[in-house]
Amino acid sequence: MRNRVCQRVCSILSSIFAVLVVLGVDGKSACGDEGMFPVSEIGRLNLQARGLELDPKEIFNAEKPCLIDAICRVNGCTGSFISSHGLIITNHHCAYGAIQKLSTRENDYLANGFLASSRAEELSAPGYTVRITESFEDVSEKVLSVVEPGMSFLERTKAIQKQQRTLEQAAEEQNPGRRAEVAEMFVGERYVLFLYVNIKDVRLVFAPPSSIGNFGGEVDNWEWPRHTGDFSFLRAYVAPDGSPADYSPDNVPFQPKRFLPVNPRGTEENDFVMLLGYPGRTARHNTASFLKFEQDIRLPYLVETYQREIARLEQAGAEDRAIALKLASRIKSMANVEKRSRGQLRGLQQLRFVERRAAEETELQAFINADPQRREKFGDLFAEINAVYAEMTDHAELEFGLRQLGTGSPILGLANFIVDAAHERQKPSLERERGFGDNVFAQTRERFELQQRDFHPPSDRSALEATLIQLSKVEASKLPVALANAVKSSESIQQFLDHLYQSNEILAASILNKTLEMTPGELTNVDEPFIQFAIALYPTLLELRERDKDREGRLSRYYGDLFNVKREFAAADSSRVLVPDANATLRLTVGRVEGYSPADAIYKAPFTTVAGLLAKNTGLDPFDAPPQIAQLHAARDFGNYLKANLNDVPVAMLYSTDSTGGNSGSPVINARGELVGVNFDRTFDATINDFAWDHAYSRSIGVDIRYVLWITGKVYGATALIEELGFERP
Ligand code: ASP
Repeated sequence: MRNRVCQRVCSILSSIFAVLVVLGVDGKSACGDEGMFPVSEIGRLNLQARGLELDPKEIFNAEKPCLIDAICRVNGCTGSFISSHGLIITNHHCAYGAIQKLSTRENDYLANGFLASSRAEELSAPGYTVRITESFEDVSEKVLSVVEPGMSFLERTKAIQKQQRTLEQAAEEQNPGRRAEVAEMFVGERYVLFLYVNIKDVRLVFAPPSSIGNFGGEVDNWEWPRHTGDFSFLRAYVAPDGSPADYSPDNVPFQPKRFLPVNPRGTEENDFVMLLGYPGRTARHNTASFLKFEQDIRLPYLVETYQREIARLEQAGAEDRAIALKLASRIKSMANVEKRSRGQLRGLQQLRFVERRAAEETELQAFINADPQRREKFGDLFAEINAVYAEMTDHAELEFGLRQLGTGSPILGLANFIVDAAHERQKPSLERERGFGDNVFAQTRERFELQQRDFHPPSDRSALEATLIQLSKVEASKLPVALANAVKSSESIQQFLDHLYQSNEILAASILNKTLEMTPGELTNVDEPFIQFAIALYPTLLELRERDKDREGRLSRYYGDLFNVKREFAAADSSRVLVPDANATLRLTVGRVEGYSPADAIYKAPFTTVAGLLAKNTGLDPFDAPPQIAQLHAARDFGNYLKANLNDVPVAMLYSTDSTGGNSGSPVINARGELVGVNFDRTFDATINDFAWDHAYSRSIGVDIRYVLWITGKVYGATALIEELGFERP
């Protein structure tokens, strides 16, 4: 296997190298730099000049176990193995969905925390999977071989997607038990097939109470200074023969090829640090027209809609803890996105990003126009891209409303899924939409089944009502008839909602099981108002999907061109830096532990302390840390975790890496390859780095390992865990 990996890596290395030459990765920088680098590039980054004490081959080596074998993807987050028995450390907010699903009014693990006193007590984390990158291969030629000159943009997108599925299926057949995914590394031109070990039995080992793991809540989210103990421990299990398997009490802890040693002494200011992880999405190369769409249309819509929804959901759970528990994960993830969007809006406006990017484009256009050949090839590039965002702007009210129908109302979302599945499953597996192929359908289905457990019809209804009111402002002729009729007047909206929510058993599990086996024709006979509404919506949602694919095809083609011309431009001016966007594949970023100055005369130092936490502690949610923290602190019972120059246990730290959503849970690793913290956030000023990274304001936030160990070992007495990490009792 490793030899094959090596060959694959060599081919990707040479192809990506052409881009990295213009990335300016010369290793001279003393501080953090922009760049979430594919691990194949590690050898080229001159990391030792930046402070790495290891041989970079220790981080990534196609031939033998290396640090990347210790990194895993935990649903949409990152985690790392920190023992030979499959123990994973990640964020509390990454394990939140599992903690929430496992919590009841009687056993409220969100409020009280959870600690398994033995392996047998570790709890299966519903819906959780852990993936480890096993190998990767550049498949650009194979993917693009299906694109033909006369194809429309829609046909192009469909052909590429089908080819991606074909390659994934072939790879999974050749590698039983593995999950394959083709990722687009550079829009429209570079595709890489990743093979993952996909572990399905994941268990909760230790989660502190939310009053530690989510200390500060949304008030402190995306802020610095920060005092959140955002960590928890999971464990990966496999069948006794080592193969990934569904949950079974007979399963055994997974043995990773490598785990990260934990350094309980943590870091100092100015230390080199790096993150390995799965950053989700960035849009660093997008045009001013994209940024304007974000600034004027999408982000304001999102902030307004989510604020409204969060308020409703919070109110729904205010009197009843069981309801609050059902809704907790949705509220948390919406609140996270809402606040991030506000940060991005503020950054876009204050830093005048649209204007700045437009000015860059004027320069680039001049460069294009200066050469007749270039002009011939790229002359209309910006006009073509701008036309896509103009079209999206024109359709935004309708399209956002249609999408929000099923997102705001998870019940309608499930009905849409049932109808979609009935249609998709008529097609050959390779031609289906993502998530419906035979190899992944069971997992998609499980996701919806888990969501179903959290249905709460009253809040679902009020969310749907808000969306219907919004859609009543759209010209009726643009809506499907059933929807247009429903939104005719405020009375018709209420009547329609009464009709939808009449049953006490809306889309119960029995209906789900039955309807998921049906054809579209059979579904029309099902006497269930949500399913009938979803059937009526289906043609419009399908149109929307096709329109998205057409746009994707246009953007993929023209952003590919833009990237190429930028590359030429960068080659002509060595001060210009191009960095590949994140796409949820394994990346490395490096930086230093350092503070920053967000505004005139303000400096934010890089460590917070338990004393700082106690100063914030009002005793009221979300600043209500458990009393043991104050007691141990008063007794100065710091175990081995005192940071001398702070005369305290450090809680969180700040560093200048290049990170985004998906890097949550990434290990913060020191120059010797040891774990010294767990990344969980960025500052409010740094939310904008999804569009443009800058050392002046881009700071990531991690929980300090000393606080993790102090809470785990001292405050909760989880000595078995501390010993599993190779330390004596604290
Ligand atoms: N806390 C963030 C998130 O969950 C992580 C980040 O974006 O830096 O999305």
